[in-house]
Amino acid sequence: MRRAIRQLLVLLLIICAAPAAASVPLPLDQALHGLGRYADTLAEDGERLTPRQAQIAFQRAPGQAADTGVLHFGTGVGPHWIRFALHNPSQTPVERLLVIENPWIDQLDAYLVHAGQVLRDWRLGDSLAFSAREVSHRHFVLPLMIPAGDAEVLVRVETPDPMLLPAFFGTQEQFERYDRLNSYSYGLLYGFLLALALYNLVLYFQIRLRRYLAYVGFLASFLILNMVYTGHFFWWFWPSQAAWWQWGHPLVIGLYASAWAAFATTFLQLRRYMPALYRGVVWFIGMFWFCQLALLVLNEQAWAVITSILFSLLVTLLILPVAAMSWRSGMREAVYLILASIASAIGTGITAATVINWLSFDPIGFRAIELGISIDAVLLSFGLAQQFRHTERRLVVAQQVARLDPLTGLYNRRAFEEVVVPLLARAERFRRPVSLILMDLDRFKSINDRFGHHVGDAVLRAVSDTLRATVRKGDVLARWGGEEFILLLPETDQEQALHLAERIRVAVASTEPDTTTLGGVAVTTSLGLFTSNSAQQSLAQLVREADALLYRAKEAGRDRVCV
Ligand code: GH3
Ligand code: MG
Ligand code: MG
Repeated sequence: MRRAIRQLLVLLLIICAAPAAASVPLPLDQALHGLGRYADTLAEDGERLTPRQAQIAFQRAPGQAADTGVLHFGTGVGPHWIRFALHNPSQTPVERLLVIENPWIDQLDAYLVHAGQVLRDWRLGDSLAFSAREVSHRHFVLPLMIPAGDAEVLVRVETPDPMLLPAFFGTQEQFERYDRLNSYSYGLLYGFLLALALYNLVLYFQIRLRRYLAYVGFLASFLILNMVYTGHFFWWFWPSQAAWWQWGHPLVIGLYASAWAAFATTFLQLRRYMPALYRGVVWFIGMFWFCQLALLVLNEQAWAVITSILFSLLVTLLILPVAAMSWRSGMREAVYLILASIASAIGTGITAATVINWLSFDPIGFRAIELGISIDAVLLSFGLAQQFRHTERRLVVAQQVARLDPLTGLYNRRAFEEVVVPLLARAERFRRPVSLILMDLDRFKSINDRFGHHVGDAVLRAVSDTLRATVRKGDVLARWGGEEFILLLPETDQEQALHLAERIRVAVASTEPDTTTLGGVAVTTSLGLFTSNSAQQSLAQLVREADALLYRAKEAGRDRVCV
């Protein structure tokens, strides 16, 4: 009863309203984009209108022709009707496609009306399975058989998401040409993101650094986000989707923003360098998901979309000052994150502003986020590479330091062994001579006792400098122990080695530390020289032989070479 009264009231309203100015029919001779100029629109405030009631309402009520090229009714608004007038001047019906290029409309009902009769109707929307669509496409494609004379298309849209309605009108061929270009561009984007993600996943499994995994997470989440809001995801992977996938949009936006925050915190190593801020970020992400969960329970999808868009904008904007702080405190690679954040903030901002109608619709503006994220992804991989180079360099420096004796700067025993083993193997293979000199400073203890340990150190440094200056290129010199030095001479027979050993003995004898004087006390050295002609000996054997000869030199009165 109440329903009948309300319908009566609606009818009364329709009859009383002033007649609308007739809208311009869609031209049949060209491909058209936008279509806002040709559309009459109507907000459905009360009871759901039948196509007939909508038709009457359009005839009576002044049509709200859109001033922009693309229709946009806002976010979280009630159902709207759109009417396009058609005029076919020929005697035969013509075929055209009307495409509503928005994959996320929940319910889209369309009617082709001619002479007061509904010729065809379509029930579409992403709350229905893709597989039920007449034309399998991520957008809503209406194949119209336009009869001779005047006709009209009525479209009713209902969705809690942004009611943004870019549209296309033209022949099948025109649509295919336009659609192919779109497909190629998405192929390029997805191929690029996938390749980058796979490459970094391999890197992660090789290097095991968590930031590579976080980077893959960020790329993958953007890939999924883009596939969901462009309709590719449901079209390809979930054609028989259930209604609850309406929640896909807010969830994937939230997922993307969380992945971005996770990557930035890992890359900047916030947990280590700014633990308080790290806890703040974790809390912020946690709060967001708590809110989303609450909205899911309350079934407030429109609010979930708005909070997730706001969350992603906030995350993008918050990362910027944090990266700047890291950069100022000396993390040079943070500059890549700053530039990447700027690129993605601009892209995301333009796209978000387009979707919520702060900017008038433009295909490039709508897809700005894709360009922004692509630039962002490239910059971040540069940043990761640079971070890796820094780590590598630190490691190389650490390895070098571990090989050197801190007092003299000569190789230590470990480094000597490392360098010498392959040289000995080579000498053995080619049956080449090799000589080993082991030397020990004479009565060094007494130098320490008379002048102090620091003078002893200065003497050791001075002797090292002398040795460094005396040995030839290709010889391997090291500090073997306290006041003992070792020298391996590849390709050197006994005669040549003896010559060098004598030179060393004389040079050391004239060594004076530069900071102090030893008051005429000479630093002398004893040397044991062993030469192996076939080199069929291990380093340990060579050292044992040289050590025996050194002992003999000491016994014989020091300051001499024994062979
Ligand atoms: P010899 O002629 O028999 O070799 O007598 P020596 O006193 O040199 O032999 P000994 O092995 O008894 O003493 C070696 C001394 O070298 C003992 C130690 O105090 C000193 N020494 C070892 N390493 C260092 C060092 O790094 N700095 C200083 N200042 N002295 C050191
Ligand atoms: Mg000694
Ligand atoms: Mg000694």
